[in-house]
Amino acid sequence: MLLCDFHIHTTYSDGSVELRRTIDLFGQSGFDVIAITDHVVNGDSSIGKFARRFNLSVRENNFEEYLAHITREAERAWEKYGMLVIPGVEISKNYLSSDKSAHILLIDVKEFIPACWGFEKIFLEAKLQESLVIACHPHHTSAITDKETLFLWNNREKYAKYIDAWEVANRDDVFNVISLKKYPYIANSDFHKVRHLYSWKTLLNCNKDIKSVKQCIKHNKGVAITLFRN
Ligand code: ZN
Ligand code: ZN
Repeated sequence: MLLCDFHIHTTYSDGSVELRRTIDLFGQSGFDVIAITDHVVNGDSSIGKFARRFNLSVRENNFEEYLAHITREAERAWEKYGMLVIPGVEISKNYLSSDKSAHILLIDVKEFIPACWGFEKIFLEAKLQESLVIACHPHHTSAITDKETLFLWNNREKYAKYIDAWEVANRDDVFNVISLKKYPYIANSDFHKVRHLYSWKTLLNCNKDIKSVKQCIKHNKGVAITLFRN
């Protein structure tokens, strides 16, 4: 099965490892498929504005450069490691209330989508771009310092139809509500630092190309999770 991680940050947002080094780290660790998913933060709240001010977000004016850089690195990764690299973003709707906040991975994104848009508009635009929509860390986490993002889970009756898969595990956390509800799932590292390499991952039984990977997650057949340790 393909060893995959679909939730990875670099210095384009709040990750501590540069894109090229991130690619080499995952390539040398034997990964088959990864997605680079830097934050795109909303500018319509005080914490969102703060993140944007300190360049912790990909913005409309550097999105092209971000995408082009990932494409160049994807070519290098394929030649050097046989690793598929998919461009993505983590749409980060950060508000003071956890109940209002949500983070959404868009895998295989093509054009910039502002995080201040409404949920439905974001999901419909993602479908137009044929991006995969993943609900990140959707339930209570063990990290006391991180803000929780509960909006999508709390409003799942309304929004589940737009979501291709939910993170059943993120780094060291496991969200059993997702498996109990029998929602489609994947597991990711939410990589920000080198040590986050050792964390929950997804295994996929499909061909190593973007279309097959997206279909496999969407149909959620031949999907497993594993705790990747050194
Ligand atoms: Zn997040
Ligand atoms: Zn993240």
